[in-house]
Formats: sequence, structure tokens, C-alpha cells
Amino acid sequence: IGKNFNRLKNTLRDLNLHTVCEEARCPNIGECWGGGEYATATATIMLMGDTCTRGCRFCSVKTSRKPPPLDPDEPYNTAKAIAAWGLDYVVLTSVDRDDIADGGAEHFAKTVSNLKERNPQILVECLTPDFRGDLAAVEKIALSGLDVYAHNVETVRELQRFVRDPRANIDQSLSVLKHAKKVNPSVLTKTSIMLGLGESDQQIMNTLTGLREAGVDCLTLGQYMQPTKRHLKVEEYVTPEKFAHWEKVGNEMGFVYTASGPLVRSSYKAGEFFLKNLLE
Ligand code: SF4
Ligand code: SF4
Repeated sequence: IGKNFNRLKNTLRDLNLHTVCEEARCPNIGECWGGGEYATATATIMLMGDTCTRGCRFCSVKTSRKPPPLDPDEPYNTAKAIAAWGLDYVVLTSVDRDDIADGGAEHFAKTVSNLKERNPQILVECLTPDFRGDLAAVEKIALSGLDVYAHNVETVRELQRFVRDPRANIDQSLSVLKHAKKVNPSVLTKTSIMLGLGESDQQIMNTLTGLREAGVDCLTLGQYMQPTKRHLKVEEYVTPEKFAHWEKVGNEMGFVYTASGPLVRSSYKAGEFFLKNLLE
């Protein structure tokens, strides 16, 4: 906690914003909201409701084949609230909405453009679904005015079908990241991998190589933790030394930045990392 953390916490109440940081009781909230060396406060906001059409085996978000319809005012209201909140870097993420023709891409893109119109200085990262590989949907978001396009591959190639919903796979995810970069080369692309699901070092290495080949710029690695007994078991608690090893490997492989540690999540101190690498 600190000055920035208290300011954000105190002003959030009246804005009707739902942060993943608070709702998931994320242990990084002090660091992310507090900002660090560059005083860059980061928070993550969930769009399109709290119910997902998919059921990944590591994720505790509610699932339904037909979640409630989108709130058409959400892009406007959310952008207004975020702009008023005084954040430096915001991560907009969402559940998967396979029940909607474009997966909610238009809704996502509208939120970004509304926000950038109100506050051009704020840095915006979108952590998106795979849109079932619909590249037109990816394009809508990649051209919406965002700074970072993130989509998580979640795990190594060999474990995809045990860990993610059967509608997801690594090639589809890589094509999303590749396409975002292709249509907007000025955006940074970013992905995240959970460790501790039984992957081998060689499998991690091969996955990182595939990410670099797809032109992915930024990488985060964190420990998988089992949210409830019904979810996948943790196969291994990876040591901090091993996480440090992967950070070194990532940096040597040419990722713009690699954040790697047991509690690192895809949005962990995202603003700090972004600015640090932009300015150095
Ligand atoms: Fe929020 Fe993500 Fe930071 Fe957790 S890691 S506090 S969810 S921005
Ligand atoms: Fe959770 Fe995302 Fe999988 Fe939905 S698609 S179950 S929100 S990880």
C-alpha cells in the first residue's frame, strides 16, 4: 500500500468499476496499484460480464452456454469511469463470448476508442479471447487505438487440450497474436504461460521459440494455483530460482520484456514493465 494505492482504492467506490484485482483478491494489488519506480499504476477491468461460454480446467470463472446479453452502454460507461479514476495503465479483459457473432470484439474496441478519446495519455492493454480464430475480430481490436495486444497461450503445446477449453489451441492463439502485429506493427504483443502443470523444460523452450517465431514481444510466466478442488491439480511448485532462469532465457531470446515469478500474472505491474522498457 501507499499514497497511490489509497487514492485508487478510495476513488473506486463511486465509479461502478469491477476490477479483477479486487474481485480475484489478487496478491499483487499493492504493487500494481501502488506503481513502482515509474509510478505507473496498473489495474485490470473485466468487460462483458462475469460468465464465460468456455470452461478451461484451470479457471474459476462461471460458465454458461448463454450468458446474459451485453450491456450496450458498457463501452461508454466503463471508459468514462476509467478516465475519471486516474490510472496510468489499464488492462481490459473479458470472458469468452462464443454466443455473440463477433465474440464481443466490437464492444471491446468501442471501450478502447471511447477511453482514448477521453484520456489519450492512458496506456491501454487488451487481454482478449481467441475469437475462435476470427481474424476480423482480432483486427477490430488491434486497430482500436490500444498500446498492447495480449492473448494468453496459457500452457505449453503438449498440455493445451488438458488445460484449456477444447475450442482453444496454441496454433489458433499464435495466429491471433501474429495477426494483431501484422495489422498494427506499432502495438506490442504479449502472452502468458502458467508453470506447474506438469510441463517439461524442453516443452517450455519449444513454446517460447514458437512465440518468438510468431513475433510475440512480451512474455509473463507465473505459477499455476488450483482455484478449487474441482480444478486441475498443481503438479509442481516451481522454485523462484527456476522462474529467474526462465526470465533470463526470455531476455536472451529477444522478448522486449519477460516477467517471471511465482506470483506473476499476465497483468502484473504491466505499466511499470511497459514504461521501463520504453524509456530504457
Ligand atoms: Fe490487478 Fe493483474 Fe496486478 Fe493482479 S496482477 S493486481 S489482477 S493488474
Ligand atoms: Fe476462464 Fe478465459 Fe477459459 Fe473463460 S476462456 S474459462 S474466462 S480462462
